[in-house]
Amino acid sequence: MEKIRMTTPLVEMDGDEMTRVIWQMIKDELILPYVDLKTEYYDLGLEYRNETNDQVTIDSAEATKKYGVAVKCATITPNAARMTEYNLKEMWKSPNGTIRAILDGTVFRAPIVIKGINPFIPTWTKPITIARHAYGDIYKNAEMKVPASCKAELLVTDENGNETKTLIHQFTDSDGIIQGVHNIDKSIASFARSCFNYALDTKMDIWFASKDTISKTYDHRFKDIFAEIYDAEYKTKFEEAGIEYFYTLIDDVVARIVRSNGGVIWACKNYDGDVMSDMVATAYGSLGLMTSVLVSPDGVYEYEAAHGTVQRHYYKWLKGEKTSTNPVATIFAWSGAFRKRGELDNIPELCDYADKLEAATIATIESGIMTGDLYSLSSIEGKQTVDSETFLKAIADNLAKSYN
Ligand code: NAP
Ligand code: MG
Repeated sequence: MEKIRMTTPLVEMDGDEMTRVIWQMIKDELILPYVDLKTEYYDLGLEYRNETNDQVTIDSAEATKKYGVAVKCATITPNAARMTEYNLKEMWKSPNGTIRAILDGTVFRAPIVIKGINPFIPTWTKPITIARHAYGDIYKNAEMKVPASCKAELLVTDENGNETKTLIHQFTDSDGIIQGVHNIDKSIASFARSCFNYALDTKMDIWFASKDTISKTYDHRFKDIFAEIYDAEYKTKFEEAGIEYFYTLIDDVVARIVRSNGGVIWACKNYDGDVMSDMVATAYGSLGLMTSVLVSPDGVYEYEAAHGTVQRHYYKWLKGEKTSTNPVATIFAWSGAFRKRGELDNIPELCDYADKLEAATIATIESGIMTGDLYSLSSIEGKQTVDSETFLKAIADNLAKSYN
């Protein structure tokens, strides 16, 4: 078979530890035999980030803006232990945080649903996608302890020095605590546009919820910005696509989600998204089946797996042991990026390849060949745990069959 030609390069962001090992295996086994791969390569492995003072991360994000589609391997976010392990010049920031800030994007996480890998909520037969607003609220807060008998107020000073004040609480006979949080209209608007674009892109309904009945100014502002942007820019497009935008209270959404079959995007404020994405990931089974895509309001896409570098497996691998690390979410990061590139450049063979790669991966698991993390979740008869290489070879066989 002649290899599929690409016109625009994908931005390829390599990463760390076990996922870096698997990255190369996926390319060798599943991609290079079929695609005349064109990428602009950025090595976000911690060693090279350290060598370039993290400039490589910034460059990779700028390249993503330029070309429109990136695929990223999991990367280490350094902590104290990593400072010594990698002899780092600085405790470099999370690459995902840096890239997200440059692209002003929203992260969408969705599980890969496979017959015989059963979610803890059995009615969830379709994926639930969580969109998390990743700016502000308690993640950029100011907090204080307040002694008894103190008065706490919110104070806003304008550029001419005029002050507006409101009472938070008059503390009387007990010490206490206060917290100041903020958000900005611009970030909420970007979040809304990313959500609406992604809904149109995936043809799924989108639900947004907050607590506007209690938070009548703060949460209500989120609700209003979503409504204004929807009415002005998206209503007609949604009607044409036959999908729905719907706002409700967070309590109501929780009840609706549990009763649903999935198949919707749930847009969350920052804290709700943090907690609910962990809940949803756990309910669907394994982190190894959780995909993640960063979408900017102007339609730039960066695909990755939601999990990290699977450090524990890497140390075993370094000792020469075989590991049963699940490569599925990383495979779907590649297929997602190829499909998007194919759509943008009008290369149907590339979209078709992405479909076939995903189908071959799912078929492999449905035939009972799977990695250890899926074994206990699976009700497939004759199931067997294999190491990552054997698993990838089985996918490669299935993929080859779909091209015969
Ligand atoms: P992790 O790499 O996601 O792994 C946590 C545990 O989940 C693993 O030890 C493993 O359990 C299981 N697991 C995760 N992915 C798996 C897969 N594909 N196949 C099989 N099992 C899987 O999280 P972490 O250990 O907290 O973090 C490790 C490093 O990753 C850290 O340096 C962190 O900064 C980084 N990280 C990066 C990203 C990113 O780039 N997006 C996200 C999260 C974390 P068992 O060991 O029990 O098998
Ligand atoms: Mg969390």
